[in-house]
Amino acid sequence: MSRLVIVSNRVALPAEAAQRSGGLVTGLVDALHQAGGLWFGWSGKLGETTPEPNVFETERVTYATVDLTRADHDGYYSGFSNAALWPLFHYRLDLMNFTRRDLAAYRRVNAVLADALAPLLSPSDLVWVHDYHLIPMAEELRRAGATQRIGFFLHTPFPSLGVLATLPHYGDLLKSLCAYDLVGFQTVEDLTAFHDAILRRAGGTISSDGHVHAFDRDLRAGAFPIGIDTEAIAEMASGAVKSRTARRLQESLRGRKLIIGVDRLDYSKGLEHRFKAFAAFLDGYPAYRNHVRFLQIATATRSDVPEYRALRQRLGALAGDVAGRYAELDWAPIQYLNRSFSQRSLAGFFRLSRVALVTPLRDGMNLVAKEYVAAQNPDDPGVLVLSPFAGAAYELDAAVIANPYDPDAVAEALQTALGMPLGERCERWRAMMVVLRRNSIAAWRESFLGALSS
Ligand code: ADP
Repeated sequence: MSRLVIVSNRVALPAEAAQRSGGLVTGLVDALHQAGGLWFGWSGKLGETTPEPNVFETERVTYATVDLTRADHDGYYSGFSNAALWPLFHYRLDLMNFTRRDLAAYRRVNAVLADALAPLLSPSDLVWVHDYHLIPMAEELRRAGATQRIGFFLHTPFPSLGVLATLPHYGDLLKSLCAYDLVGFQTVEDLTAFHDAILRRAGGTISSDGHVHAFDRDLRAGAFPIGIDTEAIAEMASGAVKSRTARRLQESLRGRKLIIGVDRLDYSKGLEHRFKAFAAFLDGYPAYRNHVRFLQIATATRSDVPEYRALRQRLGALAGDVAGRYAELDWAPIQYLNRSFSQRSLAGFFRLSRVALVTPLRDGMNLVAKEYVAAQNPDDPGVLVLSPFAGAAYELDAAVIANPYDPDAVAEALQTALGMPLGERCERWRAMMVVLRRNSIAAWRESFLGALSS
């Protein structure tokens, strides 16, 4: 069996991984433990970059990390990755902030990381690179002499050609992707957008069995929708609902139905649209006033990117407006929290919620949607209201689907979800659980690695 090498922007060291039970990190750590492996990436520290990575070994897994200089990190991470690629890949051209300097830092950091990783590789290793921060990694590893099979998985959407082509030098990204042996996307829509770009802008060809030929390279590309550890989350939720935190939340509801949203504070999540839709719901269906509470948990991230700070301010004001307009002396319609919770607490909150509002404007997958479904009580499940623009909607079509750009549609979906009879709730929930059990995180990992190694 080949050794597995995982490359990602951040490396989850064992202490951190232990807190993330049920998620992607555990899924990857499990794979590293099975065959022995190496996890490589940025250390999370700023300082002088040294050619030798910091190495930390456990029984079967080696962790190797590299420090980055502040200037490189600013340009590579906050700059090109999160202020250019992230908005572009989420169709927010209005927020794309491209500079040649950031692009140069992005390329430079990928080269620096590849130079540090290449000497650690053995000829039979299988290398799996993750996400938009590291698109040029295979190209840089090949330059440094690597001949191993290298795969790439994009966790975000891949935009359609008209959007992609607004990025200066986008052709270089396509060329970089073609240096991999396998490129994985979340959905068929993303894969189709990639094929389209290869055919129309790279002069490449796609054969009927899915092989891509472009830039003098042969590779494969496919859709590998990422999953969750469905059983672990279900189990966690049934225990967590009895915890003190969950009981506190339940008592505070006084019999009202809970509507929940859990997201990173990011403009792709459609939080402003969601708050406005909730106000439209209270306006359109006044009988629900004082009978529901909307709990939105939104953890601040990427605060060094100006757009995220501005969004946080706007959301705070909007939540205040909704509360000010509809609250009564004994009822707060909206509870808005900017903090994070453990996976266990979240699982408990999900189980207590009659409805989850997962209404991103664009999302690669959206694991919260899947976690919410997995956390439900099989005898009395809640209802998922889901945007068609989340990758998860391709699998969870038994959710109540609502277009986040139409506040009345989301308000209607909320009303449908809150009034849904038990029989229909169970039927929809069971249909979604079949998919979640089949497309688990383990199945995702095995199908990607199976395709990469064959
Ligand atoms: P993204 O990767 O864009 O943040 P996903 O929904 O795919 O969106 O994944 C988010 C992950 O982070 C989920 O596993 C979710 O449980 C977790 N998460 C989101 N918000 C919080 C929070 N406030 N506290 C703890 N975990 C969170």
